[in-house]
Formats: sequence, structure tokens, C-alpha cells
Amino acid sequence: MIRFRFCDSHCHLDFSVFDPKRRAIMRQAVEAGVEVIVVPGVRADDWDKLLQLCRQHQQLTTEAPRLLPALGLHPCFVSDHQQQHLIRLEELLRQQLPIALGELGLDFWSPSAEPERQFELLQQQLEIAHAYRLPVLLHARKCHDQLIQLLRRMRFEQGGIVHAFSGSRQQAEQYLALGFKLGIGGAVTYPRAQRLRRTVKELGAEAWVLETDAPDMPLCGKQGQVNRPDYLPDVFQVMVELLQQPGETLAQQFWSNTLAVLPGLKA
Ligand SMILES: [Zn+2]
Repeated sequence: MIRFRFCDSHCHLDFSVFDPKRRAIMRQAVEAGVEVIVVPGVRADDWDKLLQLCRQHQQLTTEAPRLLPALGLHPCFVSDHQQQHLIRLEELLRQQLPIALGELGLDFWSPSAEPERQFELLQQQLEIAHAYRLPVLLHARKCHDQLIQLLRRMRFEQGGIVHAFSGSRQQAEQYLALGFKLGIGGAVTYPRAQRLRRTVKELGAEAWVLETDAPDMPLCGKQGQVNRPDYLPDVFQVMVELLQQPGETLAQQFWSNTLAVLPGLKA
């Protein structure tokens, strides 16, 4: 396959599952054309390790992609988060701005999800993102309408990425109108993901940014394996087939989509 330039807009490369083979995986990512990886935060306790990792790889080399940190409190770990973590977050932002805040959002999948606390943390983080003029990486499961409503009510204008988008076309269009792009990853590689594939075609190339969400969201044919950033070209290949555009054009389009919502990518 011809080599293109990619950004993996959502990859948890800091997770300990990668500890034994992170170097090899990073090298393979570069070989696959993945020149930039956005590493989102999930819990305050993990931020130091994440920042340290990204600091070591601020530039693209033949050994590693450029790693860009995002900082946030993930809704799936709602019971771990404390108010003091938001104070710590602002302390870190005053030292150096990450590429985005995230991942943050709502996840009403699990019955013990504490929806009110999730809402509170989301709103507080969106306020911080607004104050620091930062885009956000949104995690949204079973809650797109509530999330869209909140973004509107808060007049949130920083935009960002709705990661692993799985909603309807109508919801997609509302996010796009709010200045967001939609993250597409492993889910689209499954032929049974018919609604998602239809939404990809209906919205066209301008709506999407690539992501792996590694180590999660395994690709079709790789179920049960740890997902990795060097698998990103496989997601891209499916998008080429769905959107019927030359790879070169599409890779360039996804790159500029990412740049549009994560302007810090340029620096
Ligand atoms: Zn994630």
C-alpha cells in the first residue's frame, strides 16, 4: 500500500497494556504513516505519566510519532474523579496547554453511571475548555441528544472531536454545526455496521477524522486482540472504499479535518 500521512486522533498509548512493547508499536506506527498521535487523558492519577510520555516524543522521528497530550476526566471513571482534580487540571493548563481537553463526556451505558455527577463534571470541564480556548475530545454513549443540548445551552464554541461516533445522521449534523468533527475507527471496519457506513457516505469526507481508540475498539478480523495505532491505515482503507476517493486526496482531507478542530496540531 502507498504510504500516506495520518493522525491517530484518539489513542491511549499511555495505558499500561502498552508498557512492554510501546517502543516497537511506535516505530511500526511511524512506518504505517501515523505521524501524530493524540493521547487523551482519562483519570487525574494518569496525567503525569501521559504528559511525561508525550514530552519525550514532541517531534516526529523514525522511532516514534509526535505524541500530543489531551487532559480530561473520562465519564466511565466518574467515581474516581474529585473536585480537586479540576483544580489540578487548571494548574497543569497554566503550565502548558495540551492540544485539547478530554476525554470528557457522558456514558449512560452502565446502570451505575451516576448521570448527575457525569453531567456536573462534563459541564465543569467544558467551562474550563471555554476559558482556555481549548477544543474537547468528547466521549458520548447513549446520550447524544443530552450532550448536544448541553453544548448548545452553554454556547460552547471551541468545537473538537466526537470520538468513536455512533449516532444518527441527524445527531452528526448537529455536532458538525457546533464545530465538531466525528471520530471514525474500528467500528466502521465491520460490514454489519450498516448505519454507520451509510452515515459516512451521506456526510462525506469533510465530516470525519481517523482514530483507533487503541487499545480498545478492535478492528474487524482482529477481535480479541489489543488494538494498536499502526492499524490506522486499515480503518483508512475502509473509508477509501466507502467514500470512493483517491487515497492521496482522502488522506489529505482527513489531515486538514483534524487540523481544523485541533489547531494545536500545527505548532
Ligand atoms: Zn478513549
